[in-house]
Amino acid sequence: MAVQTVESTSTPTVDLGPAAALSCRECGHRVPLGPVFACEECFGPLEIAYDFSAYDAEELRGRIEAGPSNIWRYAPLLPVPADVAGKPNLNPGWTKLVKADNLARELGVTGGLYVKDDSGNPTHSFKDRVVAQALEAARAFGFTTLSCSSTGNLAGAVGAAAARAGFRSCVFIPHDLEQGKVVMAAVYGGELIGIEGNYDDVNRFCSELIGDPAGEGWGFVNVNLRPYYAEGSKTLAYEICEQLGWQLPDQIVVPIASGSQLTKIDKGLQELIKLGLVEDKPYKIFGAQAEGCSPVSVAFKGGHDVVRPQKPDTIAKSLAIGNPADGPYVLDIARRTGGAVEDVTDEQIVDAIKLLARTEGIFAETAGGVTVGVTRKLIENGVLDPTLTTVVLNTGDGLKTLDAVAGTGLTATIRPNLDSFRKAGLA
Ligand SMILES: *Cc1c(COP(=O)(O)O)cnc(C)c1O
Repeated sequence: MAVQTVESTSTPTVDLGPAAALSCRECGHRVPLGPVFACEECFGPLEIAYDFSAYDAEELRGRIEAGPSNIWRYAPLLPVPADVAGKPNLNPGWTKLVKADNLARELGVTGGLYVKDDSGNPTHSFKDRVVAQALEAARAFGFTTLSCSSTGNLAGAVGAAAARAGFRSCVFIPHDLEQGKVVMAAVYGGELIGIEGNYDDVNRFCSELIGDPAGEGWGFVNVNLRPYYAEGSKTLAYEICEQLGWQLPDQIVVPIASGSQLTKIDKGLQELIKLGLVEDKPYKIFGAQAEGCSPVSVAFKGGHDVVRPQKPDTIAKSLAIGNPADGPYVLDIARRTGGAVEDVTDEQIVDAIKLLARTEGIFAETAGGVTVGVTRKLIENGVLDPTLTTVVLNTGDGLKTLDAVAGTGLTATIRPNLDSFRKAGLA
């Protein structure tokens, strides 16, 4: 007679591929996979722990290279089921890594300068990567409504992903965002709620909503699904290394809002090293903020471990998080890798947007102006080494933040005849 054994409660009841458990980033306490984000022991943030023990480096590399041209080529390294590529999803990722020789000349970089251009994602920002993960978790946990607190890009990414996957969406943003972001978030047909307050107020409200019957059954991609959401940023690290021919870059410049993206890029690079997919060598991670919202940069430059919250006032609204959840982890990574965190003024952000457009034909949103501007400043200050391979992230599309470059426009207005053209002095 066959003996049925009852498994212990620590066995995950959902299939999320190689994801084995949730583990506390502070105390290491492990709990089964579920829609939880804070440690029951110490209230620290939870993250995904994996079992990669079965992987062979050569076999895995071959599997990745034979995979689809989107983030699901890395499904064996993500908290998603093996058959994820067949599900309705926007399938973001595999964006261009642009060799930026003109910009390199302008900035005096001789070691190779690249722009990882994530404006090429389905809703024109890097947020499609993280939402794609959260959506699969929402499916696994049986949620039917997707929600988020957003600085703009996330709202659009959630709206679009929900539309494609047949979920309801209801997302929350500060009421005074750029028109491009508002329209982009609304057009997919979900509910879009403007909150009278800044992002930190929106986020606090969403945390309250999760604990209330009104929010029951809702998957907040960046709150109760945050451990899954956050893993999407690892795909930036994977893609950059694969696109460099399975090599680590020497230096990488990453924008900071909550700091999640930066910490997961580091996690992704560490995984590639441990799995033997890239050769181990030192790399430096640099964080970029706007001066008008620079809590992590101020802490870094002051030598502090504690990040003091700020009230944001900057044109880089997608990065305007005054109380960044991952701030202390960003400080650790910048210090451990020998990187830095720096900030630039709104004027320098606009100059950098124009510089990138003029040199490489890439129109970045304000967040891209922040990374390019910070790269320039770090080179001028002798902090970033121009003789090393450097990757700068552009995480969003300039069409969403047109106001930032509002003075840009027509060179001349003429009548439709040659005489008028000649008189304008353009011939
Ligand atoms: C959200 C966002 C980021 C970074 O977000 P983190 O919270 O730090 O992960 C960067 N760039 C753009 C354009 C964004 O929308």
